[in-house]
Parts: sequence; structure tokens; C-alpha cells
Amino acid sequence: MLSLRHLNKTYANGVHASNDISLDIPTGLFGLLGPNGAGKSTLMRTIATLQEPDSGTIHLDGLDVLREPTALRRQLGYLPQDFGVYPKVSALELLDHFAILKGLVQRGERKEAVEALLHQTNLWEARKRAVASYSGGMRQRFGIAQALLGAPRLVIVDEPTAGLDPDERNRFLNLLARISEQVIVILSTHIVEDVTDLCSRMAVIGKGRVLVEGEPKAAIATLRGRIWRGAVSDAQLPELQQRFTVLSSRLVGGKPQINIYAESQPEAGFTQVEPGLEDVYFLQLRAAA
Ligand code: ADP
Repeated sequence: MLSLRHLNKTYANGVHASNDISLDIPTGLFGLLGPNGAGKSTLMRTIATLQEPDSGTIHLDGLDVLREPTALRRQLGYLPQDFGVYPKVSALELLDHFAILKGLVQRGERKEAVEALLHQTNLWEARKRAVASYSGGMRQRFGIAQALLGAPRLVIVDEPTAGLDPDERNRFLNLLARISEQVIVILSTHIVEDVTDLCSRMAVIGKGRVLVEGEPKAAIATLRGRIWRGAVSDAQLPELQQRFTVLSSRLVGGKPQINIYAESQPEAGFTQVEPGLEDVYFLQLRAAA
């Protein structure tokens, strides 16, 4: 279990990027969901011991992370948002190089670990190709392979699906889900669908604060019976936005279709629909705005 208690961080420019953050994160895939600027990277970097909070504590099982950052780093795999290292060497050579840096100095053991990871991340066939020639999805899977070197107990991936096509995204998320059967995986994302299907637990953060935390299904269930959907005209939209809690609007056949949060039917023509995580997300962000 990773336990965060009362983490605070204010940058020199006055931005309060972590505001009294407390979370318990068990083994499994944990989705940290929030819009750009919410404070996700700040929290990821703090947990990865790349920067210090102003106050608060972090424990990984019995380990006091802020007191013993070196011990944490030995159990950590980290895929930063801008993992920009794509030289012209092959994946096999590059991963071998990272393995040496991770302390896997014994040749046989290293070869075994590197080959197993290339298989696990489905890069074995492409292992001799230069990482520079990889697609976005392959690069992200390579990023996971390097993060998993040394069998970490905690894996942090920061906005890994941005820019991936739907196929690559699914493949990548499935890989994370498989890994998370044995380790804590924290996936930070601003894409609601990344969290809906595969994360066993999640937190929504906005403006540095935890807005909601728990199982996605449980959070969704709290909105049952209160989400109404209807097609409206462009002209009606501003007035409805004033009178009701409009959570989202999307164009269906060229016409806006909106989701409203309300205790009872807001207008004729609106029908009750099953809530989704997107409704939870937008409602929480509105409340925090
Ligand atoms: P996210 O990853 O959710 O987009 P960040 O943690 O990157 O959020 O940023 C949270 C807030 O802190 C933003 O307002 C951002 O501009 C600010 N911020 C992030 N890093 C720094 C920094 N090094 N110095 C000053 N402000 C920062």
C-alpha cells in the first residue's frame, strides 16, 4: 500500500499545486484523473522523489519515502510525461544499457530480464529496430519495459496515452492492467476512458485537491437517477446552461446533445440515462471551479 498524507506543495510563483492530498493506493491499477494543470505531474514527481513537498508524508508499506528516497527509488519504475530518449540504437541495446544503469550488472541475469521484458511488452519482433523508428505506441511500451527493469514494487506512468491511436491506447492500457496484478501502478491521465474500464481505483484531482476517490463503479453509482440527456438546438444551449447543471455537450448528427445533472426531469424531451465516469468527472470539476 502507498499512503499519502496531507501533501502540500506551493511553487515559487504561488501556485498551490498539491493541496492537502491524502490517498491510499493499493496494488492494482490506480487512475489519477484531472484536467491539465490539476497537479498530476507534481504529485507523480513528488511520489517518485524527484521533488519534495512542503509538508506531508508518503509511506510505501513500511518505508518512509521522504526520509529514505534512495530506498524508494530501488523499488520504483517511472515513465515520465516527456520520456524523450529515442536514439538510433536498437531497443535491445538500449534496454540492456538501462538495465546496467539499474544495477543489473550480471550478464546472464540481465539478458534474461531484458528479453523477458521485450516479450512482455510485445516488442520482441521489433527488438532490433532503432527506437527512433518506433510508433508512439511502441515507444510507450518501450518506456514501460525500461520502467519495469529491476522488478519495481511501484510503477508510475504520467499521461502515457496522450497522442496514441485507439488501438495503441487499448493495447497499452491492457499491458498496464496485466502488470498491476502484482504491483502498484499509478496512471495519470486527463482522458476519462483511460480510467473507466481498467482502473480498480481512482481519484479525480482539480486545482491540487482530491475531489473524489474510490472505485469508479461506486462513484458512478452515486449519480444513478440524476443524469438526463436530451437533444437541443444551438440557440437553446446558453439558456439551459444558466438554468441547469449541464455536464457535457456533444454533437450528434450536427445537433448538440447534452447531459444535465438534476433530481427530476429538467425539461420535456429529456430522458434519464445511465451515468458514466465522465458525468462524475464534470460534476466534480464544476463543483470545484
Ligand atoms: P498536471 O500534470 O495535472 O497538468 P502540473 O502538476 O504539471 O499539473 O501543474 C500544476 C500547476 O502547477 C499548474 O498550474 C502549473 O502551471 C504549476 N506548475 C507546475 N510545475 C511548476 C513549476 N516548476 N514552477 C511553477 N509552477 C509550476
